[in-house]
Amino acid sequence: MPRSAVVIDREYLKHQPGDLHPERPERLKALLDLTAELDSGSFKLLPPRAATREEVELCHSKDYIELVESTSQVNRYALDGDTITSRDSFGTGLLAAGGFLNLLDAIAAAELRNGFALVRPPGHHALKDRAMGFCLFNTVAIGAQHLRRQHGAKRVLIMDWDVHHGNGTQDAFYRDPSVLYVSTHQYPYYPGTGAIEEAGVREGEGYTMNVPLPAGCGDEEYLRVFGDVVIPVAEKFEPEWILVSAGFDPHRRDPLGSMDVTEKGFGAMAALLIALAEKQSGGRIAFLLEGGYDLTALKNSVFAVLHEMKEKSAIDLPGKSGGEAIEPLIRKILKFQERYW
Ligand SMILES: [Zn+2]
Repeated sequence: MPRSAVVIDREYLKHQPGDLHPERPERLKALLDLTAELDSGSFKLLPPRAATREEVELCHSKDYIELVESTSQVNRYALDGDTITSRDSFGTGLLAAGGFLNLLDAIAAAELRNGFALVRPPGHHALKDRAMGFCLFNTVAIGAQHLRRQHGAKRVLIMDWDVHHGNGTQDAFYRDPSVLYVSTHQYPYYPGTGAIEEAGVREGEGYTMNVPLPAGCGDEEYLRVFGDVVIPVAEKFEPEWILVSAGFDPHRRDPLGSMDVTEKGFGAMAALLIALAEKQSGGRIAFLLEGGYDLTALKNSVFAVLHEMKEKSAIDLPGKSGGEAIEPLIRKILKFQERYW
């Protein structure tokens, strides 16, 4: 019996933001080649489905959904400066959200333990009534709301390691203590949000944790952040579910980000989160593709994460000698978070 699932389909190639756009169908094509070779004893291929209107409304306004739907009538429409649609974009956006929900439902039914939704367009910048940064619908946020409504989840951890801050996801749960949103991102950088002090408001205060990192951080810095900040805080939260906004644009080859992470680093971060899921959330962890614009880096990094889902490898956390350049930053974040965790 496979214990892991992958959601991927040629339908996800249909959103066409333009030949020169970094978020292009070729990203998914590279992953279709990769997943065609997965062993069926370990991985089950789950089909996508279109999310229903009600499911998308968990995180977006009716007016906004209608606006995105109306773009199906024209060949090209700019929802914002860099979020461009084609006739099939609305439909592909619904399939991205629905594909992720299919994965969550399969894990909730204990048919599978974990999985990776390899879908596009990405989602973590999308706001309640606004497209942003290549994102139409906020798939990870819709997923977390779905878990709460349909599966009674009380504590959902969203870990977002995309190189950009997931402002849309942060916004969706800023007043909500049932979802802990943790983001590591390049800072200052697009979209400009994600400072340490952005920690949530009212009942949600303390349930947003931002780890803004300087450009140039690599595997050692990221693993230090995971070991010293992310995992300890996540453990105290005791998540019932872990959702990962897995963007691979912190990779050293990525043309948009300026970080230095390798596929090995992504594998190690995935392994730490999978281990946390095994310990605290009954193994329930779902990865969702966000950014990542170098095709080789994307393919190798997704492969590294899938490998960790299949079999745990020994993780080398950096010793006292690794990643010390960001130690003052880590101390600052821990000092700030002391009041909450
Ligand atoms: Zn990104």
